[in-house]
Amino acid sequence: MTTSHPTEPLAPAGAGLVAALDIVLPPWVDDEVRAAGTVLPDVEDRMRLALRLAARNHLEGSGGPFAAVVADPTTGQIHAAGVNLVLATGLSTMHAEVTALSFAQTRLGSWDLSAAGRPIELVVNWRPCVMCYGAVMWSGVQALTIAGEGNEVETLTGFDEGPMRDDWAQQFEHRGITVRTDILRDEALAVFAEYGNRNDVVVYNARRSSTTTAP
Ligand SMILES: [Zn+2]
Repeated sequence: MTTSHPTEPLAPAGAGLVAALDIVLPPWVDDEVRAAGTVLPDVEDRMRLALRLAARNHLEGSGGPFAAVVADPTTGQIHAAGVNLVLATGLSTMHAEVTALSFAQTRLGSWDLSAAGRPIELVVNWRPCVMCYGAVMWSGVQALTIAGEGNEVETLTGFDEGPMRDDWAQQFEHRGITVRTDILRDEALAVFAEYGNRNDVVVYNARRSSTTTAP
């Protein structure tokens, strides 16, 4: 596995402030959602969609093997999907949870997804990192469904998930966000393993050195 900073030079200082962000969901994501079906009443089908997106995302070069789906858990209606876009956008915050929640909030017209007046679930192919922990908490979702938790993702992929608190799930529950885990856990680990077995990927944790590590 190759660990490095981006090789392209940063824009020179004094080039002027950036006034807009260009965050585009790759068109193949919509293709995958349509192929899976935009109404998925079975939670395993919703997770299967997230896993399919995660598995394809790193092959497409958009970012890491992470994806998220925003849905109505009572009907299975898919409101939005997101994938990790850190490499595609050059933005460190573009984790799958953030992109999926942002596209859902844009589509539903509110920064507070609970304002939709119906339950909203975020389906992710692993426990959120420390940044996405906050992003999920402030999003207005009422349910978080994950494939699993634990340090396997770090072991298999090399990504640093940050200093998560041990009671992270209880903190969600205290705020009315139901946490459900171990949905297609083995399948999720297989996606991470496939990613980790590549020898040409960039692990983009900023504080990592630019040294190359063994595959
Ligand atoms: Zn994250």
